[in-house]
Amino acid sequence: MSFVCPVCHGELESFGNMKKCPRGHSFDRAKEGYYNLLLSKKGGMHGDNAEMVRARRAFLERGYYEPLAERVAERVLELTPRGGTVLDAGLGEGYYTDRVERALALRDGTSRVHGFDISKTAVRYAAKKNPRLSLAVASSYDIPAADASFNTVISIFSPLAREEIHRVLSTHGTFVFAYPGRRHLMGLKSAIYDLPRENEPDAAELAGFELIASDRLNYTVTVNGADAVRELFMMTPYAYRTGAAERDRLYALSSVSTEIEFCVDVYRKLFK
Ligand SMILES: [Zn+2]
Repeated sequence: MSFVCPVCHGELESFGNMKKCPRGHSFDRAKEGYYNLLLSKKGGMHGDNAEMVRARRAFLERGYYEPLAERVAERVLELTPRGGTVLDAGLGEGYYTDRVERALALRDGTSRVHGFDISKTAVRYAAKKNPRLSLAVASSYDIPAADASFNTVISIFSPLAREEIHRVLSTHGTFVFAYPGRRHLMGLKSAIYDLPRENEPDAAELAGFELIASDRLNYTVTVNGADAVRELFMMTPYAYRTGAAERDRLYALSSVSTEIEFCVDVYRKLFK
């Protein structure tokens, strides 16, 4: 399977450096190897800005979220049949996607991992990180994929587009959903705010799905160095909401200790 035409959902065939559907809609291949399948004229200008994407990439490469990458890869290995298909919905710079792809490649050489993000900058980084990924710029709310075309879909810290994920999953396909737990980044928030609040849990019953597993990952890290502290702050939603005085107080720190709490829920697609 591969991505389909975002206009008519027809199959895409490769012609040199472009893909075309039978109706003649065509999409150029970017030099990094991904396709822009976003229909809006402002394609690629959506989503996280370039500075945030760069900060997130740099922070993730430091390894503080490694346990989450490991857990997600383990889950995908358990859930995906040999020669199966996986989609990362909102893959960012591909940190988790790359881990999943390498785990599957070690087990069998035939599973395929696709991913998309609405940020062109993020997809470009992902393409450079792992050229074996099939990548597109696209929206979670209009996934350019055929119905029932993936065994496993993962969504990590991304907006949850339940209906589209349900549509593209195969019968009995599984959905791995990772999101921040209540105490995630409390130490960072304490360094910024006088009265930090816990996160609202995101976990929910999802219509059309059955919850089959629910993991919690809890640990404490010390983020070392002003650059790393700044990168972590930049990749959180607080970067948009924090006043200059609080931000500067944080930026003056050379390390921050903080709780990390990830929730990793696994759902199975139910028959309607
Ligand atoms: Zn088309």
